Amino acid sequence: MALVVHKYGGTSMGSVERIQNVARRVAKWVNAGHQVVVVPSAMSGETNRLLGLAKEINANCADMSPREMDMIASTGEQVSVGLLAIALQAIGTPAVSYTGWQVPVRTNSAFMKARIESIDGVKVKKDLDAGRVVIITGFQGVDPNNNITTLGRGGSDTSAVAVAAAIKADECLIYTDVDGVYTTDPRVVGNARRMDKITFEEMLEMASLGSKVLQIRSVEFAGKYQVKTRVLSSLTDPDMDINIEANSGTLITFEEDENMEKAVISGIAFSRDEAKITLNQVPDMPGVAFNILGPIAAANIDVDMIIQNQSKNGTTDFSFTVNRAEYNKTMELINSTVAPAVGAASVDGNDKVAKVSAVGIGMRSHVGVASKMFDTLSHAGINIQMISTSEIKISVIIEDKFMELAVRELHQAFDLENEVSTDAV
Ligand code: ADP
Ligand code: ASP
Ligand code: MG
Repeated sequence: MALVVHKYGGTSMGSVERIQNVARRVAKWVNAGHQVVVVPSAMSGETNRLLGLAKEINANCADMSPREMDMIASTGEQVSVGLLAIALQAIGTPAVSYTGWQVPVRTNSAFMKARIESIDGVKVKKDLDAGRVVIITGFQGVDPNNNITTLGRGGSDTSAVAVAAAIKADECLIYTDVDGVYTTDPRVVGNARRMDKITFEEMLEMASLGSKVLQIRSVEFAGKYQVKTRVLSSLTDPDMDINIEANSGTLITFEEDENMEKAVISGIAFSRDEAKITLNQVPDMPGVAFNILGPIAAANIDVDMIIQNQSKNGTTDFSFTVNRAEYNKTMELINSTVAPAVGAASVDGNDKVAKVSAVGIGMRSHVGVASKMFDTLSHAGINIQMISTSEIKISVIIEDKFMELAVRELHQAFDLENEVSTDAV
């Protein structure tokens, strides 16, 4: 008998029929002798619909009323858990549903992007031992003042892995609408290849660089608590052989095996959620970066890439990127207080940029990846606006209309559709 957590995303929960399929799949695991906790998302499109209603009332609601946004957005998952419990009970499988605060899933108070601080597994264990499937809302929690919080878009992945860590589950199975993690989004590159395994480090980079197949915080949890995590399809026959299902998809591994060491690049990630801001001709003196980025951090805005140009005539240009959703808020802050305070001559903003990244642990031992990437983009006529690198990734900021072209060209240049990209460089 194993203790497993199943997570089902929006598409997997997208209709009554799909919810009934989820119930059949979960019942199969229970009937095979396993204890199952299920963490579902809202039905597909539901979170967008709910947030859209709020925006109809006030376009600035996310900035002005973040607490209320979470009150609204969290309800999508509440409907899902109730429906799934009914579907399980209807086929004779005892089940009980809980919202985040009932467990409780405790978070900090950063509305719309709260972080899980702890999860109480006592009640969950009790129900499991009494033979019930426990269904817990994804995406939501409760803060120290009993406010309902949500974990940021795609947050149900994080709920699932965090629950798995809290109850020391043997495995967390992330069921989704693709059958695993691919070399890049299979919806953008038709011949992207599914990987049987991906290292935790690579998955962390892919997620942080925009591969929305897993929310980054879920991968961080998997790493911190060594949760065995697998991404697999929910769209297969729910009655398929459980042993085949249990070994399908992509496993996130904590060790590199021989094959993995050979691959130079394992994937291309991309994100359209980017915006770039440049402060021109800022007097170059100690404290410039802090004086620009300090107020942004204080406003709880995450900065991603940063470039400070070499000083010319005592001034420097300073560029950074933020999430596109925070572009207006950041520009307002920069124009109203930061730029005048640091003495910038002017400010440029561009919310039509995208980030494309090549990821692979093989980069540690291979040179030439960056030049191959730049060469490929230049042949495709794509101008690079910013570059950032780490030991296992290279990211570039480009005009967003070229994003898909860049992804396809790089996927081909690094030969990712074929098994191992040893001679890619
Ligand atoms: P869910 O609703 O199940 O959480 P998401 O839409 O959040 O599903 O994530 C699954 C989607 O992630 C896929 O449909 C696919 O388009 C996208 N995706 C992006 N990058 C990758 C990748 N490298 N491998 C697989 N899927 C990816
Ligand atoms: N329903 C939430 C969203 O759409 C959380 C999730 O699906 O993971 O972002
Ligand atoms: Mg998701």
